[in-house]
Amino acid sequence: MTDAAELRQRTRDLLAAHPPASTDRLDFLRARFDAGLAWVHFPEGLGGLGAPRTLQPVVDTALAAAGAPDNDPRRIGIGLGMAAPTLLKYGTDEQKQRFLRPLWTGEEVWCQLFSEPGAGSDLAALGTRAVRDGDDWVVDGQKVWTSSAHLARWAILIARTDPDLPKHRGITYFVCDMTDPGVEVRPLRQITGEAEFNEVFLTGVRIPDTRRLGEVGDGWRVAQTTLNNERVAIGGRRLPREGGMIGPVARTWRERPELRTHDLHQRLLTLWVEAEVARLTGERLGQQLAVGHPGPEGAGMKLAFARLNQEISGLEVDLLGEEGLLYDDWTMRRPELVDFTGREAGYRYLRSKGNSIEGGTSEILLNIVAERVLGLPAEPRTDKDVAWKDLAR
Ligand SMILES: Cc1cc2nc3c(=O)[nH]c(=O)nc-3n(C[C@H](O)[C@H](O)[C@H](O)COP(=O)(O)OP(=O)(O)OC[C@H]3O[C@@H](n4cnc5c(N)ncnc54)[C@H](O)[C@@H]3O)c2cc1C
Repeated sequence: MTDAAELRQRTRDLLAAHPPASTDRLDFLRARFDAGLAWVHFPEGLGGLGAPRTLQPVVDTALAAAGAPDNDPRRIGIGLGMAAPTLLKYGTDEQKQRFLRPLWTGEEVWCQLFSEPGAGSDLAALGTRAVRDGDDWVVDGQKVWTSSAHLARWAILIARTDPDLPKHRGITYFVCDMTDPGVEVRPLRQITGEAEFNEVFLTGVRIPDTRRLGEVGDGWRVAQTTLNNERVAIGGRRLPREGGMIGPVARTWRERPELRTHDLHQRLLTLWVEAEVARLTGERLGQQLAVGHPGPEGAGMKLAFARLNQEISGLEVDLLGEEGLLYDDWTMRRPELVDFTGREAGYRYLRSKGNSIEGGTSEILLNIVAERVLGLPAEPRTDKDVAWKDLAR
């Protein structure tokens, strides 16, 4: 088993062979992947060394200190956080070899074609059809809220392959080429003025069977790996103290004493403590993750993340008064990455509204915590044995 000393040595070897100051960024990232220092817990040959995940900071810290470039993880969050763990668990050897390296280096951006106009919380009701035709599948349907679709080369896609089966059982999971002529991406403008996400229309898109992930009809199970990782990716990011939404408001409080009131002080103290508790819980979840795979506990972190972001950004707007209502740019931007705490207070306030929707709404996450963490009785689900084609729509 690779230990910390070996990782330090391998990192030194990488830096000696590819000095960051004189090496092209992409060449460096590819060499890092090939040296097994990308995600050390991945298998050898796929960017890792089969080392414990807890040892990743050994590599990251040494590389950052040497001024090495990183792969800009916020730009490729869906690839790193959702597609990669799913490919690793369910992909064939050929799929892993083809997709993981350019995914990690950021050469190929990924998006997630799951939600549809008629299937969000009830994702298993989705209606996008995939019909087998020789060695291919032909896909027709519409997806919505697809973050980064305008930047993406590949998508993780779930589609219905058997409408005669109950909704959870007739779904299959694919990798979709976003450059296929049948894929049309249209921007959707959000409350922030930006268009991070899109509608995606799929018309006669041909996907070779070699780009199916998992068995035919087993897409719901495969999707659980993606969704569990999504919640951790959104809500479970490890942060330094005051690293999240609480950071800007705490700074304003310290720097602008003229804005302070007793009531705001009480609110700030309460939220500061809650943010710190959430951060430390995130640390613990990170440690659990290091020894296994994310379970439904990720839902709890994502819930706390959404509530705190909304309350803290609301407090910041109250603290700033009229100034908090200023907004510097309403043009429809197509951001390359989403930084929840970036930009001004008004942006943070508006963008945080989406936190309780994206990656599963807070109501749905409460159901997951109730049923799968606390073991409470399940919601009645009267349609789970009915063929999808017979469901009321
Ligand atoms: C910023 C952002 C980015 C996104 N990015 C992507 C992406 O890249 N790819 C993708 O596939 N999707 C993406 N989504 C979509 C997101 O996953 C869905 O919006 C979400 O799952 C909710 O689905 P819906 O919008 O259809 O709402 P609905 O499911 O119609 O829900 C409407 C309301 O009803 C409530 N509700 C529904 N069912 C229940 C229930 N059983 N019990 C209690 N309350 C219930 C919900 O909580 C919600 O308040 C994104 C969303 C946002 C906001």
